[in-house]
Amino acid sequence: RPSRCRETNGGPAGPCNPWTGKPFSSLYYQLEEKRRALPVFQERERIVEIVKRNRVVVLQGETGSGKTTQVPRLLLEAGFQRIACTQPRRIAAVSVATRVAHEMDVRLGELVGYTIRFEDVSHPKLTRLKYVTDGMLLREAFQDDRLSRYDCIILDEAHERTLSTDVLMGLLKGILKQRPELHMVVMSATLERDHFCTYFDHAPLLNVSGRMHPVDIRFAERPVFDYLFAVEQQVRQIHENEPAGDVLIFLTGEEEIEDMCSRLRHYSRATARKHGAPLQVLPLYSALPMSVQERVFEPPRPPEARKVIVATNVAETSITIDGITYVIDPGFAKVKIYNPSTRVESLLVSPISQDSARQRAGRAGRTRPGICYRLYTEEAFRTELPARSHPEILRSNLCNVVLTLKKLGIHDLIHFDFMDPPAPDTMIRALEMLFYLGAVDEEVELTQLGRQMAEFPLDIQIARMLLESPRHGSSNEAITLAAMLSVPNVFLRPRQQADEADARKQRFVVSDSDHATLVRVFEAFMDHGCDRQWCAENYLNDRALMHAVNIRRQLELMMQRMGLRICSPGRRAPDRWIRLRRCVLEGFFSQTAFWMRRRDYLTIRDEQLVGLHPSSVIRHRPSWVVFHEFVLTTGSYIRTVSQIEPKWLFELPTKYYDLLEYKEGASRRALELAARLTGQRRSAAP
Ligand code: ADP
Ligand code: MG
Repeated sequence: RPSRCRETNGGPAGPCNPWTGKPFSSLYYQLEEKRRALPVFQERERIVEIVKRNRVVVLQGETGSGKTTQVPRLLLEAGFQRIACTQPRRIAAVSVATRVAHEMDVRLGELVGYTIRFEDVSHPKLTRLKYVTDGMLLREAFQDDRLSRYDCIILDEAHERTLSTDVLMGLLKGILKQRPELHMVVMSATLERDHFCTYFDHAPLLNVSGRMHPVDIRFAERPVFDYLFAVEQQVRQIHENEPAGDVLIFLTGEEEIEDMCSRLRHYSRATARKHGAPLQVLPLYSALPMSVQERVFEPPRPPEARKVIVATNVAETSITIDGITYVIDPGFAKVKIYNPSTRVESLLVSPISQDSARQRAGRAGRTRPGICYRLYTEEAFRTELPARSHPEILRSNLCNVVLTLKKLGIHDLIHFDFMDPPAPDTMIRALEMLFYLGAVDEEVELTQLGRQMAEFPLDIQIARMLLESPRHGSSNEAITLAAMLSVPNVFLRPRQQADEADARKQRFVVSDSDHATLVRVFEAFMDHGCDRQWCAENYLNDRALMHAVNIRRQLELMMQRMGLRICSPGRRAPDRWIRLRRCVLEGFFSQTAFWMRRRDYLTIRDEQLVGLHPSSVIRHRPSWVVFHEFVLTTGSYIRTVSQIEPKWLFELPTKYYDLLEYKEGASRRALELAARLTGQRRSAAP
């Protein structure tokens, strides 16, 4: 309850913020009114009561009912000392923390803060309510394995079943037994609730009902082949025939979204006069800076415009935008898929689940009755969309998870209490890979190298590349590369200026290595003082590059703290890129391929036929390459590729290339040939 501020400067005494002791701002009153109308606020007494009386509570409520913004704060006000609230998505953690700080009228990063990878806007002492990505909370457990800083931990968006949330759930189940004062809330949209209650030993379920207006669902009559075209047509139809109301479109990723935005802006400019109100087209995806993201919440500009928000599935349940009346759902999302036989993880555009489709439709009925246009037939909905999506843990490469658990001191991996235990086979494969990477020894104990790898908030392969890079005298370049591999694609290629963009890219090309090309781009960006104009002239994404600068700084600090040498052969050294390519191989040795015929490469071991991705700078056909990613679009491709010398394979400190590990086949023959040509021993066996 707000106390009264003492009269100051002769002004009238108003109520004052109990957290800061200062009078409330005018924004506070605006937001306070909105928040009081939320279903969660209205149920606040019941919620606080049940959380205090139980160790674990499952709280389920319609998206937009105020779970994420209100529950943590209510618990703070009810006397909890330090609260962590996890979010699977970075963009949601930032957006929600910002909102809550505004609502509480406090400075972000003090009482309320957030922590996401490479960005910590929280204070070790002052912050008492922290929004944190699930992955980062897991990392906190490295230092503090009972998460003893917190007396209340909220796992939000639990229905998303991300890898890190699943691991956290298992971990917290154990911690709850050791820390009788810890309370936990598992929050989710309306999905999967029984599963959660059972898993947490029949935890009580609390249901907060939101007000939902009816949503009219309209399926496509015939299958749609070009959904981008169909989306554009649908927006036109809405804008030209339907009453006022904002539009939300679900697309799969940054490039698609930006492309759609430019199409719709073009349409809006061309027809504004005819149809009166223009469109205000706004993208929403995680690589956008906060200031641009926030625009989706602001009133349209000009005020008579119809807002059209083009979003990834972050808008499905993590972020709620009020005022949406029309939803356009093409039925796809980018999904992480792991192929255990190729051991490669890739992001694939795949059909969403029926559950997701229902969530998406629900976004149209938050403030009044709405319409959801599904760009697929009713038949397809019933027969082609899976009822629900698989938890991420069942479709991931488990190397990082297993390493994390090992680092947390959990040795019995097979009996770890996962909600949906992965197949033992996948676990064993992960252990095998960790062994090749030198992260565990023959007794499956974590090695010194393994412990260091886990320290980096990076994929284990990149971590290994960094750790081995001083040995190749090139850690400076390797850090730059690691940063560049952690941000979205920096090369812009607008459809109308593709040739011009390609020509500009030529300036940075190192002809045998996409990796080295990335490092050159970064260095040129630094040389030009991180200038935006220069980026625009060279078709480079300045935001992604700025982000890389920030990540690079942090990685360098981490390396220094670990006592690793920062070294470089110097920009003019003739062997500079050779050293870098060897560093890449240190991390990515399990992702090599050798030339087979015409345009195709065969990947080592699993022997998949792949082509060089068209974006690669490599124009000749090196006989051996190392690659960063495997992508499946119209064909199988490897992307971000470097030429390697086959003899390097035999010099790696790993048993991966022991010929004894290979059965008779193309891989073995290629390795034998390479060994003969380079005068290596045929086998490293004794
Ligand atoms: P839930 O977690 O139950 O889905 P939230 O707590 O995220 O609900 O949202 C509650 C309300 O707060 C919604 O009306 C939403 O539009 C609003 N809101 C959340 N974040 C922001 C923000 N950054 N700016 C403006 N409004 C926001
Ligand atoms: Mg939420």
